Amino acid sequence: MSDLLTSTERGLYCAAGDFYIDPWMPVDRAIITHAHGDHARWGSRTYVCSAECERVLRTRLGNANIATRNWGETFHANGVTLSFHPAGHIIGSAQIRVEHAGETWVVSGDYKTEPDPTCTPFEPVRCDVFITESTFGLPIYRWTPESETFADIASWWKANRDAGRSSVIFAYALGKAQRLLAGLAEVAQGNFYTHGAVERLTRDYRDGGIALPATTYASSPPKGHDWTGAMIIAPPSAAGSTWLRRFGVSSTAFVSGWMRVRGARRRRSVDRGFVLSDHVDWPALMSAIDATGAQRVFVTHGYREQVVRMLRGRGLDAASLASQWEGESDEEAEADAVPDDETPPQ
Ligand SMILES: [Zn+2]
Repeated sequence: MSDLLTSTERGLYCAAGDFYIDPWMPVDRAIITHAHGDHARWGSRTYVCSAECERVLRTRLGNANIATRNWGETFHANGVTLSFHPAGHIIGSAQIRVEHAGETWVVSGDYKTEPDPTCTPFEPVRCDVFITESTFGLPIYRWTPESETFADIASWWKANRDAGRSSVIFAYALGKAQRLLAGLAEVAQGNFYTHGAVERLTRDYRDGGIALPATTYASSPPKGHDWTGAMIIAPPSAAGSTWLRRFGVSSTAFVSGWMRVRGARRRRSVDRGFVLSDHVDWPALMSAIDATGAQRVFVTHGYREQVVRMLRGRGLDAASLASQWEGESDEEAEADAVPDDETPPQ
């Protein structure tokens, strides 16, 4: 018997149900884990995503044929049963459960088990075969609690204000920027300004019922506006651009799981790096895999060979699976880029 899901040139394919999960080329039926650019690509005939994902997927894909399902609601494709379960990565991010002929597979998509007020928490799902991401799949990756990161960012912001500077922080426009807004609003007070790409998606989050502090589109204040003490949130693609000049004397920072890596801040040419990831760290990856009860595990993204070796050592049937999903990478940052920074949010 062949596997229920297989890796093909268009992406992860289910022959029994004739659908793809997060295909990287156009297909007839795309089932989408979440709206990040490396998972939700243009050009497919139909898309199915979680109801919570719909708004941001429409913002990302524009005029696309999108159907939605609620968490845990089952639906069918040629006798194959599917359902979405929260992945805790960004708004609407889903694990996809696929069941056929008595066997259950779960595709994790990107996920984290840390609490995040901007999306539905990760839910462990029992399965026979688990396809997991491993973006940060090395024992050196262990996240500090997000409350510590937000406290660090708040004191950097305050120091900048006291020194008469503005604060410019680079964060992925979808997910990280909103988590940052929610977390900072808890521990700091001040005015938040947003790049257009961030502002559009932040509105989607609010429309989806996520509580976020007030933000002002950074291109709306008139010339001569005093930016001292302002917190400006922009996608990584805005780093080094002329768009930043308006903010006067500023200090810059980048917030990402990659800031855990030595030299990452310097390569980004920013003044500060703050570690905050929307992916599982090493201990969370191991416990998430355990919680599925799966005997077979496929590993995608970054450090898959190391994770496979570790899982085999624990007696699991593990293998790596080639994919074009990049996780929290520079490529995803580019997908967040907005060609015309002056275009006001719709
Ligand atoms: Zn993602």
